[in-house]
Amino acid sequence: MTAMKERVHVVLAAGGAGSRMGAGQNKIFLEAGGKSILLRSMQLFEGIIDRMVIVCRPEDEQQIRRIVSMSGVSYQVSLARGGESRQHSVLNGLKSLGADPDDIVLVHDAARCLTPVNVILDILESCRSKGSGVAAVPAVNTMKYADSDMYVLHTADRSDLYEIQTPQGFRFAQLYDSYIKAEKDGFVATDDASVAEHAGVRVLLVRGSKKNIKVTEKEDLVMINALLQQDTPSFRIGMGYDVHRLTEGRKLILCGIEIPHTLGLLGHSDADVALHALMDAMFGAAALGDIGRHFPDTSDEYKGISSVLLLKEAIRKVRKAGYEFVNADITIAAQKPRISPYIPEMVRKVSETLSCDTSQVNIKATTTERLGFEGREEGISAQAVCSLLKL
Ligand code: MG
Repeated sequence: MTAMKERVHVVLAAGGAGSRMGAGQNKIFLEAGGKSILLRSMQLFEGIIDRMVIVCRPEDEQQIRRIVSMSGVSYQVSLARGGESRQHSVLNGLKSLGADPDDIVLVHDAARCLTPVNVILDILESCRSKGSGVAAVPAVNTMKYADSDMYVLHTADRSDLYEIQTPQGFRFAQLYDSYIKAEKDGFVATDDASVAEHAGVRVLLVRGSKKNIKVTEKEDLVMINALLQQDTPSFRIGMGYDVHRLTEGRKLILCGIEIPHTLGLLGHSDADVALHALMDAMFGAAALGDIGRHFPDTSDEYKGISSVLLLKEAIRKVRKAGYEFVNADITIAAQKPRISPYIPEMVRKVSETLSCDTSQVNIKATTTERLGFEGREEGISAQAVCSLLKL
């Protein structure tokens, strides 16, 4: 994974009045599966973004602040005043961001609370590499143009048609300048991509999801509840086991920490047996095969590589497949040296690499009472279990 310096912001459009719902309140306060639509859409971005500005009507501010304070999200959240239209609202949000020109901004409808994480990550990736990314699904219904009396004028060619969703992502400067231009030109649009297109920005569509429903009518809420039921998070468990031989002239690295010893572990990478077991457990829980499939030891790319880098890539793959890391427990079996003094540092290293709390990682060390290859100091083995949550 390359270093990412630019920050990622979300403008969450939460200004809708819910008039079509007949809900008597902003539809984002309606609950699905015991949580408000707003809370769900906020939580979609946890662990992915640096900052969110929620654009809303003044009369909704108090309730939104309450939801924000209970949300538990780790990114920064602020509120901005909505305008008379979505377009004005988003512009207000952009103005209040204080973002750098190269930062990435994703505009998202608060009423879309089931956007799959992989769609958000794909859009971010597209923004980084191509400058824009807009969620879209191929049109499945035949589309026709009709006059005001409902007589068909002509039929559109469906093969080139896409239904557009959010998030819609751009570099900040490009989107901001587009919005300013639209305002100056009096150009009115229903989405951010149209505003960018009007300013001549090349907009790239990224595969969205049919689950990415926007709550606009009562039926949508029924659909969302049904999808939530079907998508009840499921726990997944994986296990991993690895052995490396001890030899002279190599460093002993366990869980990313170098431990002073006369012997080190032999292997294609840095031979960090404990992290290898952990990665196998993670891949196992996500049904993604094993470490050999993702980082083949025949590849020069991985020769001598730090297993911490491999772990970083492994967790990215696991998250991309739609899993959230829950916890891991690792046992290292070594006769010598004494490993326990290094365990707190190992826990810190692993949790930092996984971007999780230290309470989610446990590491233990044991001898084998001088029995077996570990006991004879011929090698070190490690076992790990890992649990993930399918989101
Ligand atoms: Mg190994």
